Amino acid sequence: MPRTPDGETNIVVLTGAGISAESGIRTFRGDDGLWEGHSLEEVATPYGWAEDRHKVWRFYQQRRSQLPLVEPNAGHLALARLEAAMPNGNFTLITQNVDDLHGRAGSNNPIHMHGELRLLRCEVCGEVGERMEPEHLEESVFVGCDNCENDILRPHIVWFHEMPFELERIDKAVNSADIFLVVGTSGHVYPAAGLLEIARSAGAYCIGVNLEPPLNVELFHEFHQGAAGKILPPLIGEWY
Ligand code: NAD
Repeated sequence: MPRTPDGETNIVVLTGAGISAESGIRTFRGDDGLWEGHSLEEVATPYGWAEDRHKVWRFYQQRRSQLPLVEPNAGHLALARLEAAMPNGNFTLITQNVDDLHGRAGSNNPIHMHGELRLLRCEVCGEVGERMEPEHLEESVFVGCDNCENDILRPHIVWFHEMPFELERIDKAVNSADIFLVVGTSGHVYPAAGLLEIARSAGAYCIGVNLEPPLNVELFHEFHQGAAGKILPPLIGEWY
């Protein structure tokens, strides 16, 4: 067991699609290897977007429209409580998730390394903004930029072959972690999957929580197999 964190303990958490599964958002890899029936090449690469904007837009509009219909679960809430109990801001939450459930649970400024469904981005002028009004959520109508002439904004999502956001900040946090807690991620998607190895090499005590053993399970000092909403509240509730 990790030592009970005190005021000096730096806790860094990495979450993936599994933490939102109990809220009703499907994880990335179905048993069929598809994401909601689509191949990743089709809907999660710049090539897919260049090939068929209507298909990619419809896919993300469906994910965006789902957000108001789902609620944070016990796992999101437990992490928000832990953060609130940590003195001196010695807590960093990094998420691969593009949903907004950590923020709505009360987490302060999580690092969304793969982007956010709530935001759209202009590929011409670079403007990024929240576009969640009903007229922004229609499947068959593109949303245009307020700042320039471009009439097709893209999802503010990091696709395969693109660089995740805030890597420098993430690297700094992971390298200074005393406890590195990884929840609901399969360990398939890099560079996120490599953060565990970095944290472990830098001396962090590494704890995993996942429904099934992830690819890199042997790197954890402690692994808890099961649903995040059941395991996290008692596990981290002991820390504060
Ligand atoms: P993944 O789908 O590859 O893996 C999810 C993992 O969560 C699996 O190992 C599964 O066993 C585990 N899991 C499922 N239910 C769980 C539960 N209740 N408690 C704990 N673990 C559970 O997801 P990933 O590793 O995060 O990589 C996928 C990529 O997909 C990310 O880049 C992310 O941006 C994107 N994505 C995000 C969302 C979201 O925002 N909610 C949903 C789907 C995909």
